[in-house]
Amino acid sequence: MILLKRIVNEEFNFRSDVMNNKVDILGVSVDSVTMQEAISKIETFFEQRKPTLIATANAEMLMRATHDEELKKILNAAELVVPDGAGTVWAAHHLGYEMPERVAGYDLAQELMKRAPLKNRRVYFFGSAPGVADKAKLKAEELYSGIKIVGTRNGFFKAEDEPQIIADIKTAQPDLLLVALGVPKQEKWLAKYKDELNVPVSIGVGGTFDVMAGIMKRAPLWMQKAKLEWLFRAMLQPKRAGRLIALPKFVLKVHSSKQKS
Ligand code: UDP
Repeated sequence: MILLKRIVNEEFNFRSDVMNNKVDILGVSVDSVTMQEAISKIETFFEQRKPTLIATANAEMLMRATHDEELKKILNAAELVVPDGAGTVWAAHHLGYEMPERVAGYDLAQELMKRAPLKNRRVYFFGSAPGVADKAKLKAEELYSGIKIVGTRNGFFKAEDEPQIIADIKTAQPDLLLVALGVPKQEKWLAKYKDELNVPVSIGVGGTFDVMAGIMKRAPLWMQKAKLEWLFRAMLQPKRAGRLIALPKFVLKVHSSKQKS
């Protein structure tokens, strides 16, 4: 406990040998970007129209990648991995890298939806329990006047349903595909099908539709600012509480990876 406290509360001196703003955290290359920089990178992906995968890396995802080689490869091949979560930002700082701010997947998705009507972009929602993506669509239409949500599909399906799901997405021709199947299913699904789908920008967005549909609450701003969003989620979903053990494990693992380097 004392070690954890000492590790978490240290002061940082940043190193200058960062390549392309990529920071290696437990073997995963995370982009050290602000929300604004992430958005301008994604704008170029929309223009290039080549299928790209964007991941939002929190401590849990990075921990998972240490024992899930397939996920690690997918993340390292992704066009953009934003630092989602105070844990990721802390880890970068602890390893001596600059990381300006947290770029939460939820906020990134909202920002892209806000811009969609201005650029006449088409958006598709795939994932979450039956009915949730439809409710999230209504919310998006209320928030972002003129937005074109060109399709929704829930995230509970069998392998034999996949050809139909893929055909539906292809017919809808979205520019932006938001996929909420949980980690690592959403990243693996997208890595497998993104070229076939040929959507310029696809993002794994976890619980985003649940929050938009009002099924899940986001932590109040003061808790987000106090870096306590993880605690709020654990209180709201006690089933997730077991997953919290990943956090101290993450801190210790990052610390020991620093000792080794
Ligand atoms: N989900 C889904 N299909 C699945 C598993 C999960 O659509 O087979 C949805 C779930 O309903 C939720 C979202 O994926 O809306 C994210 O789930 P969770 O919060 O458990 O995942 P995390 O992103 O935190 O790993």
